[in-house]
Amino acid sequence: MFMRELNIKAIVRQNVKKLKPYVAKEIPCRIKLDANESPFALKISDIIDEISIPLNRYPDPEAKDLRKAISKRIKVNFENIMIGNGSDELIYYLMLTFGGPVLYPVPTFSMYGIIAQSVGVETLESKLDECFDLVEEDFFNILKTKKPKLIFLSTPNNPTGNTFSSHKILKIIELAREKNCLIVIDEAYGPFCSEKGYLPLLNDFENLILLRTLSKIGLAGLRIGYLIGNSDILSEIKKVKLPYNVDAVSQYVATYALQNFYSRIKKFIREVITERENLLKKLSSFKNITVYPSEANFILFKSTKSKEIYQKLLKSGILIRDMSSTIKNSLRVTVGTKEENEEFIKALKNILDEKK
Ligand SMILES: *Cc1c(COP(=O)(O)O)cnc(C)c1O
Repeated sequence: MFMRELNIKAIVRQNVKKLKPYVAKEIPCRIKLDANESPFALKISDIIDEISIPLNRYPDPEAKDLRKAISKRIKVNFENIMIGNGSDELIYYLMLTFGGPVLYPVPTFSMYGIIAQSVGVETLESKLDECFDLVEEDFFNILKTKKPKLIFLSTPNNPTGNTFSSHKILKIIELAREKNCLIVIDEAYGPFCSEKGYLPLLNDFENLILLRTLSKIGLAGLRIGYLIGNSDILSEIKKVKLPYNVDAVSQYVATYALQNFYSRIKKFIREVITERENLLKKLSSFKNITVYPSEANFILFKSTKSKEIYQKLLKSGILIRDMSSTIKNSLRVTVGTKEENEEFIKALKNILDEKK
């Protein structure tokens, strides 16, 4: 190392200096229920026999086949779809293109704040109420006085699991349009939700953008997210998009999966929903924890002994997410397979029984 003469700190941008690297650390475990992934093991060879793509060539920068496959599934013109290396990348592009201030409710998906800081745009946060729903007056007030350029709403929300009231969202979309502000509705957990989602509103509101991902429905390893919005918005984002942001293998496998494997994916989703309901019922029967309703593939719950629960579960090989730094005493568990959930419930019951 010949770094002694180099003062790295002096040249790092101020906003980056204040950031900490996102810790997606691999904690060894037997049952992984921490990252809202699908619990159903899936290999490329389960989906497809052979991938025949020329590896000496760059991938299609426009991901046309994949966009067409998505277009067919969701019945949206493929010109209104942009693919990202996960929806995280699209969040990044949105902030890079439109800048700030960026408004979102808290607690929510941590990447909105992290990306805002790395891009160097101002963040505006509106606190959710005790049911984790939007506080209309507060949100409106910020929207009116602070002139955000972008709003992010994750519904169902991560890490809380609930959806925001649709009448509130509708009012926010309308006011945002009046204020020349874009509103991004992040539907990462839409497939698990009993509500229809906001796709039907796209034609009525030119300031509305939807974000979706294949990550939570079984294909997290592919890193495929997509954005749906009007073509004028997409034209601007295309200016900052890296030309080869989505690799050829992912494009190919995702396209194939959407065309030929979708019924299996839907079956996985149905199973997760059934299991979520089972888990909700069982968790609600425990006396010393508070369970929050969920329309997603995870459940948030609270206990005054959250730290201890987390550690003891991990000792028995079960990894969940400690959310206490965001929501006091809270833990988030991803819905696993039937067997995984049963083990989780058994282990949790043991831990809670010990405490009497
Ligand atoms: C997981 C998640 C994403 C990220 O999805 P990727 O496509 O894997 O980048 C986006 N938004 C929310 C709310 C999420 O929970």
